Amino acid sequence: MLLNEIPVKKVSGVSALKEGELHAFHIFTVADLLEYYPFRYEDYRLRPLSEVQDGEKATVQAKVFGLPVLQRYGKKSRLTCKMMADDWMFTATWFNRHFLKEQLTPGREVTLTGKWDMRRMQLTVSDSEFPDQGASRSGSLQPVYSVGGNITQAWMRKTIKQALMQYGEMIPEILPQELVQQYGLMARSRAIQRIHQPVDNEEGQQARRRMVYEELFLFQLKLQVYRAMNQQRQDGVQHTVDNATMREFVRSLPFELTDAQKKVELEILQDMRSPYCMNRLLQGDVGSGKTVVAALALYAAVKSGYQGALMVPTEILAEQHARSLAKLFEPFGITVGLLTGSITGRKRKDLLASLQMGLTDIVVGTHALIQEDVFFRALGLVVTDEQHRFGVNQRSILRRKGYNPDVLTMTATPIPRTLAITAFGDMDVSTLSERPAGRKPISTYWVKHGMMDRVLGFINREISQGRQAYLICPLIEESDKLDVQNAIDLFVSMQQAFPDFQVGLLHGRMTPAEKEEAMRLFYANETQLLVSTTVVEVGVDVPNATLMIVMDADRFGLSQLHQLRGRVGRGEHASYCVLIADPKSEVGQERMRVMTETDDGFEVARRDLELRGPGDFFGTKQSGVPEFRIADMVSDFAVLEAARDDAAELVREPAFWTSPAYLPLREYLQREQILQGELID
Ligand code: ADP
Ligand code: MG
Repeated sequence: MLLNEIPVKKVSGVSALKEGELHAFHIFTVADLLEYYPFRYEDYRLRPLSEVQDGEKATVQAKVFGLPVLQRYGKKSRLTCKMMADDWMFTATWFNRHFLKEQLTPGREVTLTGKWDMRRMQLTVSDSEFPDQGASRSGSLQPVYSVGGNITQAWMRKTIKQALMQYGEMIPEILPQELVQQYGLMARSRAIQRIHQPVDNEEGQQARRRMVYEELFLFQLKLQVYRAMNQQRQDGVQHTVDNATMREFVRSLPFELTDAQKKVELEILQDMRSPYCMNRLLQGDVGSGKTVVAALALYAAVKSGYQGALMVPTEILAEQHARSLAKLFEPFGITVGLLTGSITGRKRKDLLASLQMGLTDIVVGTHALIQEDVFFRALGLVVTDEQHRFGVNQRSILRRKGYNPDVLTMTATPIPRTLAITAFGDMDVSTLSERPAGRKPISTYWVKHGMMDRVLGFINREISQGRQAYLICPLIEESDKLDVQNAIDLFVSMQQAFPDFQVGLLHGRMTPAEKEEAMRLFYANETQLLVSTTVVEVGVDVPNATLMIVMDADRFGLSQLHQLRGRVGRGEHASYCVLIADPKSEVGQERMRVMTETDDGFEVARRDLELRGPGDFFGTKQSGVPEFRIADMVSDFAVLEAARDDAAELVREPAFWTSPAYLPLREYLQREQILQGELID
């Protein structure tokens, strides 16, 4: 009987009621309980009083020396007693523990835990135990669990201890013997015992090291197996485009591809030409030229006789991409359609029909693109741009419609290597590591609100030289209305400040048509200054814009600021980013510093991760970043890398799939539903 098949109520002391309460902690089985690890330990190990520093919390062994004195104040009480420890006399004080008075008989041994006041020779006791009653805590490191509701710390400790007594011997090893030996890992059953009940810090650390490795190894094993099986599947689309055809398109581009773009193109073509399904992540800093890579892939799909879809998060971006793709593809007779929420009625119906008949080769749109009533004649490639993770669910929607397209996911949030191999471990990753030649770095300045006059002077200088500028006003979370008002006020004052120029306005409350018009005017340089909320954050590409000004910049997160800054520096002119902020918090100031110190997105992301921690990095749980029970993606990164290599190597061994030595791992994969049913999705 496996521990993960035994319901937790089999642990004595777990009533039906308690069992229900444990469910709130996702504890259903004995295994779940045993793997409910403490997040820290409380040190109850005995120390000589003479070594305890003033103000420190410590546990000491003492003898009752005087008679206890009890004072009562209404319901409250204070109990004091003279005690002796290592020839030191001191006073022990308890609050609201009047019932102890009877027990404090002179000469009796007591183990006291509390805060030491050296000057007054007084210990304020938080915990006391009598060794003659079978003390349990003292002398040890006590685990501290995350508890709540009706589950108390004491109950959790007692229950896990009980579970270890009943089932501790039954905990099977799961890791292959060779890995246990190679890393000198503790056996699984011992590690789990010791994580809950470490004898000392060293042993606790060893136990933790073992479980961290196991957790990361199993996680990577899932990804590697998933990937291996995906590559074994031969039912993906096999694109057939040849190199000469590709070269024709490349030659038609207005610029030379960067080396990084060429390398990535090859990686993508190789995937697309193979019979398995491409699942590739393309990451590159803002402005590194991802769009043209997407265009190359879409072109390859169409020239292979398939259709392509490009999915983006906003309508503005969809329109921009549809426009620029149409321009690139025009000479090749490739047709591009646009499908967004504001395309309705006749127009929408015609487009859907044309997609279904295969008359439209490429469709650009928002999320709804691949769902609902949209059908293709032969969908061969889906590209998703910016912050969209194409989830397993959407994949199966497509597959149900009878497509099994290659998928290219593009992200401009450079993902620190740390997160890339966890969040995107099931994908192949291509990186655009350089920006197009001739780009100048973006100079970033951080100024206080009082400097607004000089900022206006700066705007004037740039637009007088024929350049364009963005002025971003912050989103006011509490109120959409205020937000819009803010943008309008700023717009009006900018019109007054720059009477010789045209000022545009863009915010979330405008209708799609109004937004499109505002963007069109800015693209065409008919407006020189665009006052906007963060709707321009991602993807917008106006190479003539050279100045990005962000008001109240400390209200934005680092990656958002970096994205906003990425709207400039996209052409041959020197570009600037001005952050206006008087941050109060340390973190806010640090963000401003990071922005002024580097314009490398990978570096920004790394610092962001440091400031925020991995849990927060993507903002949402559905980002695909897993939650680990015990491992920490950042501090245990080296282990994660080792675990990935070990898992990948193991999966490549034929014995992994057959030998009894790996049966526990295969059973694990089965329980995790990796090795059964719809294997891929
Ligand atoms: P992002 O990676 O942020 O999506 P884009 O694809 O929008 O970047 O490209 C940014 C700008 O750089 C665009 O104006 C694009 O036309 C231009 N660009 C892309 N590749 C090159 C290149 N190899 N040489 C010069 N300019 C390029
Ligand atoms: Mg882009």
